[in-house]
Amino acid sequence: MFPEFTLRYARLPDRFFLRFDPVPVKAPRLLAFNRPLAEELGFDTAAFDEKSAAEVFSGNAVPTGAEPLAQAYAGHQFGHFNPRLGDGRAVLLGEVTDREGRLRDLQLKGAGCTPFSRGADGRAPLGPVLREYLISEAMHVLGIPTTRALAAVATGERVFRRVPEPGAVLTRVASSHLRVGTFQYFAARGDEEAIRLLADLAIERHYPELAALPAQTRYLSLVEAVQARQARLVAGWMGLGFIHGVMNTDNTSISGETIDYGPCAFMEAFDPEQVFSSIDEGGRYAYRNQPWIAQWNLARFAETLIPLIDDDADRAVERATEVIQAYPAQYEAEWLAVMRKKLGLVGEEEGDRELAEAFLEAQKAGRADFTLAFRGLSEAVEEDAPGLLERFDSGEALREWLPRWRARLARENADPTTIAARLRGTNPLYIPRNHQVEAALAAAAEGDLTPFETLAEVLATPFEAQPGREAYARPAPAGEAVFRTFCGT
Ligand code: AMP
Ligand code: MG
Repeated sequence: MFPEFTLRYARLPDRFFLRFDPVPVKAPRLLAFNRPLAEELGFDTAAFDEKSAAEVFSGNAVPTGAEPLAQAYAGHQFGHFNPRLGDGRAVLLGEVTDREGRLRDLQLKGAGCTPFSRGADGRAPLGPVLREYLISEAMHVLGIPTTRALAAVATGERVFRRVPEPGAVLTRVASSHLRVGTFQYFAARGDEEAIRLLADLAIERHYPELAALPAQTRYLSLVEAVQARQARLVAGWMGLGFIHGVMNTDNTSISGETIDYGPCAFMEAFDPEQVFSSIDEGGRYAYRNQPWIAQWNLARFAETLIPLIDDDADRAVERATEVIQAYPAQYEAEWLAVMRKKLGLVGEEEGDRELAEAFLEAQKAGRADFTLAFRGLSEAVEEDAPGLLERFDSGEALREWLPRWRARLARENADPTTIAARLRGTNPLYIPRNHQVEAALAAAAEGDLTPFETLAEVLATPFEAQPGREAYARPAPAGEAVFRTFCGT
């Protein structure tokens, strides 16, 4: 059933990981399996049966050719450096080659106490596993680079968080699990050789075009390349109202994928200060801070590469600083590109930034749902649509803004039908709304997977109206909104 493993990471020197076999679970039962992704990864899905899938995706049976291991990494968590985190409950089985010839990591999350567990239980509750499954797959369909979910298996065991909960294991697929924190682990130990190996691995897997550069520019170019991907990634999040919630450096991937769906959530009413995570007491990872936290994380990444950037440390710092200082302009350009698309604009004009900002201001003034406000534009290309106005508590700012927007659209040289179709193709109707996600998880914990499966189905085609599923497009009814999320760690 499994494709052949490559074991690229496992062939790095011993200090990069600890060999660790998943700890078997009592009664594995397959909850979800991502068949299209499995096919993309070269699985023989015809040979697939639920029982054996439950065995391998729980870690009870290690697939042939895998050499399970826990990766070493460090990280800044909420600004505080921890020199040794590592996979405390995840094991990397190895890499497989997908249909496009790219290596992809297969990792079991919730696979038991590894040597990096630091006193925690090494397990994952069912809720967070299904949450990551739903949201990471939704993000993928929404066009955001992300780790993927291949399978979710119930363990038949209990895990204890605030209360006892059913346990589960998630099979996560990533372009790689290299993180800023992986580099920090070795930088903290002054291990320059390891940093070079990691940087070369990052280039090989994610930025092969840099391999041909001379060493004097290669590693600074790596910082630039990672920065470009992070700028684009966060701009994508901002365009969807996505709040990651735990943008620690160990959760910042070198590939530029969204990783770690702990306490993340989508905002409903537009509020730049929005925070969901119960542990983010200072609002460090609030919606509006995300671009600047990414920059902070990139600076931590650049620091680890200083010895490779230039033999003269002062010059290396100078050159790296110059790169990091270019981030705000890069991010702003990415954000503007996202906003132009969301407003149906293909051409570029001076005033576009102000136009986008004014729409967000109008949403804020009218306490409008971010997703539906943008989605509503597709109905308002020619005239004020009651459907859009209804979404604003007070439509004053919106009514002022709409004619400005239409005057701008008039210079697009496209007919209204084309613009409306463009808007519908960019602004989703369905996003994973907190209250829907929580309801689906609560039902799953009681043994009923139907709401989870229906929600996953709705989120699989987020840009098309699905008759009969209007409720999934609506914000939480008063009193049912969920403003607090938990890591589930
Ligand atoms: P996260 O909050 O998921 O980014 O995890 C931060 C660190 O805590 C990582 O080193 C994880 O491996 C570790 N960790 C999180 N949850 C658990 C758990 N239940 N058991 C062991 N380690 C964990
Ligand atoms: Mg993490």
